[in-house]
Amino acid sequence: MNPLSKLLRKNIANLKPYSSARDEFSGSASVFLDANENPYDTGYNRYPDPYQQEVKKRIAEIKDVDPAQIFLGNGSDEPIDLLFRAFCNPGVDNVVAIEPSYGMYTVSAGINDVEVKKVLLTENFELESEKVLAVADDKTKLIFLCSPNNPSGNLLNSDEIISIVRNFNGLVVVDEAYIDFAPGESLLPELDKYPNLVVLQTFSKAWGLAGIRLGMAFASPEIVAVLSKIKYPYNINSLTQQRVMQSLQNVDEKDQWVNTIIAEREKLAKELEQFKFVRKIYPSDSNFLLVKMDGAREKFEYLMSEGVIVRDRSKISLCEGSLRITIGSHEENQELIDKMNGLK
Ligand SMILES: *Cc1c(COP(=O)(O)O)cnc(C)c1O
Repeated sequence: MNPLSKLLRKNIANLKPYSSARDEFSGSASVFLDANENPYDTGYNRYPDPYQQEVKKRIAEIKDVDPAQIFLGNGSDEPIDLLFRAFCNPGVDNVVAIEPSYGMYTVSAGINDVEVKKVLLTENFELESEKVLAVADDKTKLIFLCSPNNPSGNLLNSDEIISIVRNFNGLVVVDEAYIDFAPGESLLPELDKYPNLVVLQTFSKAWGLAGIRLGMAFASPEIVAVLSKIKYPYNINSLTQQRVMQSLQNVDEKDQWVNTIIAEREKLAKELEQFKFVRKIYPSDSNFLLVKMDGAREKFEYLMSEGVIVRDRSKISLCEGSLRITIGSHEENQELIDKMNGLK
């Protein structure tokens, strides 16, 4: 890996961050007259902890990492965007991303005027490390991988991922938004070994908290410090910090949802197989199924007219003729099957 000082944009390396009142004094006191807050208690009259220390302490216990290895963002979208802003010089640097994958890497690249070099996965959505490494050049700062991948649903081979991490001089971002649903291991235990590894996770899927907008980036304390330096000072609001603490006290509930969703996924896959127009159900390590079928677009529109909304991925590379179906509750999945029976 190149030294972080060399990977960073110069303006970011030289930036003196905004210093908030809570940066300059964060201990306990009886009278706070330093932040121009309203003194009357609404429950939310005080600014939130800018570094979310209580939340990070609890996440660190659950994930077995150091709190200094955790960055929290307004969804995963925030660390994705901050990585571009910290490391990629607009109009100069580039990133590499797998295709097909999550759309936000490309959108964030576009906003930041950064080129994305795309590397096709195999027909079965497998990662080929040599192909990824071969397109990286001396202007490539970040490589985006997603495992389990969206929209294909499969875990990527971890040896292939590690081979990229070992042989690339920039940062490798592995998006694990769906890792709770996967039989394979997270790459979090590898963090200490690889200073150029960034792992993204989120509260939006398994934890059932998409509405509070909370994403996690796990990386070396040095990378976390860079992201923290350039974020909005109070990026995670008090409501979000309080609500997530509640869920973090109840990991069992999350685990139960995950088990139920996985069981429902297997049931739904079996039922979908029965339809003559279904060509292929891709193996899933996530909370959705990618399903290839005849007349995918018409089926998508028919389901929509019946009030069942799935995602049409039929125009996406390697996903021709495929719909992406999120696993719902048992009743919701049954309704999908009932509507599809109307197609026979
Ligand atoms: C859903 C999803 C996320 C979550 O994004 P948030 O901004 O945390 O809600 C991240 N990555 C991938 C690949 C996803 O599919």
